[in-house]
Amino acid sequence: MNALFLSHCQIACEDSPDLVKAHVLVENGIIQAVGADLVKPSHAREIDAKGRILMPAMFDAHVHFREPGFEAKETIASGARAAINGGVTGIVMMPNTSPALDNPATIRSVLEAGKKTGITVLSSGCITKGRQGKELAAIDGMRQLGVTMLTDDGDSVYDPAVLYRAMLYAKEFGMFFASHCEVPELAGPRALTEGPTAYRLGIKGSPACAEEIIIDRDIRLAHATGAHIHIQHVSSALGMETIRWWKERGDVKVTAEVAPHHLMFSEDDIGDFDTHYKMNPPLRTKRDNAALLEGLKQGVFDLIATDHAPHTAFEKSQDFVSAPNGITGLETALISLYDRYVQHGVFGWDLVIKRYSAEPRRFMELSPVPIEAGKTAEFLLFDPQGETTFTKEFMQSRSQNTPFLNQTLRGSIDLVVKDGNVLLER
Ligand SMILES: [Zn+2]
Repeated sequence: MNALFLSHCQIACEDSPDLVKAHVLVENGIIQAVGADLVKPSHAREIDAKGRILMPAMFDAHVHFREPGFEAKETIASGARAAINGGVTGIVMMPNTSPALDNPATIRSVLEAGKKTGITVLSSGCITKGRQGKELAAIDGMRQLGVTMLTDDGDSVYDPAVLYRAMLYAKEFGMFFASHCEVPELAGPRALTEGPTAYRLGIKGSPACAEEIIIDRDIRLAHATGAHIHIQHVSSALGMETIRWWKERGDVKVTAEVAPHHLMFSEDDIGDFDTHYKMNPPLRTKRDNAALLEGLKQGVFDLIATDHAPHTAFEKSQDFVSAPNGITGLETALISLYDRYVQHGVFGWDLVIKRYSAEPRRFMELSPVPIEAGKTAEFLLFDPQGETTFTKEFMQSRSQNTPFLNQTLRGSIDLVVKDGNVLLER
C-alpha cells in the first residue's frame, strides 16, 4: 500500500491535554515514525496537516445497526459508513434486531457482514432468548464466536433470578453484562421523564427512579455473583452517584457509560413534541446534565457511547408517545463534544480519546491505537477551525433522527484511516 506522510500535525493522546507537534509516517498499515525532524520519503504521499489535530480513531461500544430485521432504518453497511463519517472505526452492535442476536448462527452472519465494512464490527449477545427475560440465550455458542458482552439492551432483565443465574454461569467464561436499567411498571409509555415537560404535554412521565432502582439492583446482583456489570446510558445524577458509591467500595467490578445527548440536552429541549429529543432513558433535567458532566470529568464514567439508534423519518413523524425511542449519534458525537466542550476548555482532547477511543477498545479486549511508532495506523485528522453542517446529504446513516439535523457545528473530520487504508478524506 501507499506510504502516507502527515506533516505538521498536532498529535493528541489520552494521557495529556497538551498537543505535540510532529510529522508522522505511515507505511504498510503501521505508524513507522513520529517526529519533528522526520523527512518525507520520496515515495510517500504528503498530507499537510498544519493547524489540524491527529488523534486515534474513536470506538463506540453501544450502537444499533438494525440488521437483521429493520434494514429500512439502518444496515450494517450504512451504519459503518455513518461511523466512518464521524471518525469511528470500531463499534459494538446491540442485539435487539429481528431475529435478536441470541444465537451463534445470527451472530455469525452479522460478524460476516461486518467484515466487509472496513471498520471493526463486534456484536454483543442477548442474555435471554429473544430478549424475553425468561430462558437463557445460547451463551456458550456465542462465546465461541468471540462475544464477550451480554445484554438485553432495550429492556432490563425483568426477573432478577434469571439475571443472577446468567451471571453465575457466564462469569466463568469471562463474559460481562451490560444493563439497560428501567423498571417497566414505573416507566409508563417510555416517552419522557417525569417532570414539568411531561405535565405540560399531558403525557405520563418515567421518573428517574425507574432507572436508578435497576442500576442498584443489577450492581447488587453482580456483587453477589462476582460478575462484571456495565451500566449503559446513565441519564440521572442519582443513578451516577449509585455507581460512584459502588465503585468506591471496590468489591464489585462495575463500569458505566454516558451518551453525549444525556450531557447536552434536557427535557426543556423537547419543546412541543419534538421527537428528535425522545430517547430511552429519557432526557432528564439541566441539573442532571451538569452532574453527569462532572461525573465524566471525575472518571465515574469509563466510556462515552452514543446509543446510535436510527429510525426512519416516517416513524419519528408520529405523535410523541407512538414515535420510537432513540436518536442517531455516530456522525455527530465527536464534533458535538468538540463544539460544546473541548473548544471551550470544559475538558481536553485527552478525555475524549480516553473515554471514546482507548477505554472502549480495552473494554472489548482490543488494543488502543495511540499515534506512536509501531502502532496500527487507525486515526483521524480533525480541523478545529472547520465547520460541519449535518444535512441529510452530509449524513451517511439511512436515518437522520438527530437534534443536530441541519445545524452547523464547529470542527470537521477531514481524514479517517484504518489499518493504513484511507476510509474518508475531504
Ligand atoms: Zn438501552
